[in-house]
Amino acid sequence: MSRRLLSGLSALAALLTLVSPLAADDAAAKRPFTLADLYRVAGVADPALSPDSKSVVYAVTTNDVKAGTRTQALWRVDAGGGPARPITFSGARDSHPFFSPDGKTLAFVSTRAGDPQVFFLPTAGAIVLLFFPEGSKSAQKAWALLVSAATFAAAADKRTTAALAIAHLAEHAPVPQREIALPAGAPFGTILVDRATCTMCLACVGSCPEGALLDGAEKPELRFIETKCVQCGICAATCPERSIALVPRLNLAPDARAPRVVNEAAIFKCIGCGKPLGTEKMVANMLVKLAGHSMFAAPGALDRLKMCADCRVIDLVKSEGSLDIRDV
Ligand code: SF4
Ligand code: SF4
Repeated sequence: MSRRLLSGLSALAALLTLVSPLAADDAAAKRPFTLADLYRVAGVADPALSPDSKSVVYAVTTNDVKAGTRTQALWRVDAGGGPARPITFSGARDSHPFFSPDGKTLAFVSTRAGDPQVFFLPTAGAIVLLFFPEGSKSAQKAWALLVSAATFAAAADKRTTAALAIAHLAEHAPVPQREIALPAGAPFGTILVDRATCTMCLACVGSCPEGALLDGAEKPELRFIETKCVQCGICAATCPERSIALVPRLNLAPDARAPRVVNEAAIFKCIGCGKPLGTEKMVANMLVKLAGHSMFAAPGALDRLKMCADCRVIDLVKSEGSLDIRDV
């Protein structure tokens, strides 16, 4: 048995003699112990030692024989001795006290509101009724449910408010979750981009009504902000390569609010002047698709697809053997 518990129990034992009115009565007159005397004895139970071992809180049961009632109140006494003081006065049954780990709040079970419920008695403030798990009457278990109040303000945008509330609940979840799968059609989720088929045409960026898809500021990139995606599917329907798939889910990781690169590409430069022309994949895709076309059957025609508009005209003029104006 720990020293803390021994110290608490010894304080409680001393208290038993203090709270019982029989002690004084018996000294005054010796007589047989009656049933009425039994009911006059205050019962002491459920001692709880504070985390700093300085005080003990316990439940004291008293009976009113005439009224036919029994009540319980919580009392507190210094572990080192001294007068005991009642700390609850509900006239109901207050029992099973249990200190919070930091000792600043006391949880207990009370019938003051009807059925037994867990109440919290903060060191500075009123008693607060909190949610009580069905089938459990343990004040100790109730600490798992005591969470800090949220501090965010509701935003005009409902989705932002929902995101803040979800983040708060996730922060206090008994079992932390990073990701929760949702059914098809849910308004939260991510997209999967098939990098092998995506040509980085960026048509999906322009189609997204929520601004969840972005292009890169400095280089060819397709970026995605998961918290903005409402899973409408417009991007998937717009993509000419059918490279986008929707995945409904609740992503609770903080980085779900930041842009994430879902595809990127190397820049293709004009083979004539070196000016950036598009992405390598886009040009390669175009060459494959037009390779068999009659309009590009002439020698050098396909190469002009690798040129910017200016170089293409120059190359066309040169290949047709046109006269230079200075030769006329
Ligand atoms: S599913 Fe809708 S909201 Fe999400 S990225 Fe595509 S277009 Fe944007
Ligand atoms: S996902 Fe589709 S629409 Fe978006 S950049 Fe890639 S190919 Fe274009």
